[in-house]
Formats: sequence, structure tokens, C-alpha cells
Amino acid sequence: MRVTLLGTGDTTGTPTVGCDCDTCREARERDIERSRFSVHVENERTDESLLVDFSPDFRHQFLTQEAPIPDAAIVSHIHFDHIDGLGNVYRLLDHLDVHAADEIDPTTGESVADTIRSKFDYLDRISVHDQTPFETFRTCGLDVTLVPVVHPPLLCYGLAIEDPESGAKLSISGDSTYAISEESRAVLADPDLLLAEAIVPASVCEYHPIGGDDYDEDGVPRTFGTKHMTREGAIALGDDLEAEITRLVHVAHYYPVEEAFEEPLAIDGEVYEL
Ligand SMILES: [Zn+2]
Ligand SMILES: [Zn+2]
Ligand SMILES: [Zn+2]
Repeated sequence: MRVTLLGTGDTTGTPTVGCDCDTCREARERDIERSRFSVHVENERTDESLLVDFSPDFRHQFLTQEAPIPDAAIVSHIHFDHIDGLGNVYRLLDHLDVHAADEIDPTTGESVADTIRSKFDYLDRISVHDQTPFETFRTCGLDVTLVPVVHPPLLCYGLAIEDPESGAKLSISGDSTYAISEESRAVLADPDLLLAEAIVPASVCEYHPIGGDDYDEDGVPRTFGTKHMTREGAIALGDDLEAEITRLVHVAHYYPVEEAFEEPLAIDGEVYEL
């Protein structure tokens, strides 16, 4: 399983358009990007590729990074930075299987799969497949399981992707706080690679109107506001899940410049062979 981090940024990306903060300036100087979130998973046994989330930067990502066009895809939730790139497949792909959760979200009155069908009804070449969380399905020769995570008010899903032949396992937290249930954690546990969202360092929580949550024994918040994990929370999640490697993704430009490009924060273009 070959995993390429196509997009490792939050919803504005780094550098952020029009921003001249030290972190965005440093990114421009060093030619580093954190475009909007997307992960490419290639099954080298079957020569198929699976895309996790449709970044609005889809075109730029596939023009600048070495990754084959996907055969199938998964959408974690319906926020702009994870779904709006789906329009890029128009007149590009002959056919694409798109998998998404089938649970009705009380906030929208429809499931993620339903929203894709209605929002992209002009895409007659995609087939949207309803998937039930915790029920493993196979696509591109890989076993995928969606699990609910915590991203109010919307339903959002993390996922585990396993190669049934080699046993290689990739887990992705999805956009989430640290308060992921034990039931979901059990599915994500013991990955070779965990991609955990870490929008800001814990030190930024004091600037959020709601502050932080899910404090550790030293009083450090592992959750930022109500929707996301802190860097400290994402690293703790990696420890909790006993991940072989943890990379932090969905990273915002609010990291101070001296911390923004430190390990284990990911940047676009990283490749992992699992
Ligand atoms: Zn900035
Ligand atoms: Zn989101
Ligand atoms: Zn997001």
C-alpha cells in the first residue's frame, strides 16, 4: 500500500491566500504547501487507487504530485474542504465509485452519501455507494471501515484501510476532537500509519471563544473548541492507538513559525510504503 499525502492543510490551506503571517511567508519561501485535505492510497497489487476526500485543490494536487487518477473514493464528511473537489472529475473520469456513510445526519436530514448525490447530480459518471459505519467493505482490493468521530454539528467519519493480503493498515482520524469513542478507536487501533488531524497547537486554545477540552493530566487541552484536535491531542491519539507512525494533518497556518514545520507535522507530497 502506497500512501501519498496530497493535501495536509485545513480549510484555508498554507500559505493562506492574502496572508503574510510568518508561517505563510516561510511556507512561500521554502516552497512548502499544505493544500486542502486529501489522501491517495495506491494498491500496488491490483494497480488501483483509492482517494480519501475531494480537496478543492484536486487539480493542482494531481498536476504536481506523482499519483495515478483514482478508481474509487471515499468522502468523510460534507465540509467544503473535503467534498467540493469532486466537481473536478467532470469530463475527467469515465467512471468513479464514491463511497460514503449512509446514516441520516439530523443536522442536514440526509446522509453524506445523499448529500453527494444531490449536490453533484450533474456528475452522471459517478456511482455513490451507501456504506454503514463499522461494516467493512472492499474497494480497490482494500478493506475499508468507516467509524463515527466527533465533529459537531455534522456527522463525520474516520476510517481504517487494510490490505487483506499484506495486513498493512492505514488509519485516518477524520476531522474530529480527541473524544473519539472506544468503539471507533478499536477499529482505528494498531495502524502502521495514523493520519491524525491537528489543526493548531494547544497553546492556541486560549484564543478560541470556547477554549479547549479533553485536558490531559498536565492540564493540556487535547481538543480545540468543539470540532478539532490540538497537536497534543493528535499525538496522544497516536499513542493511544499504538500507531507505528503518526503524521499530523489538517494543519492550519496558526502554528507559530518555529513550530509549523517541526515533526510530526506533515506537509504535502509525503509518501509512505506500508
Ligand atoms: Zn498565514
Ligand atoms: Zn470538517
Ligand atoms: Zn476539514
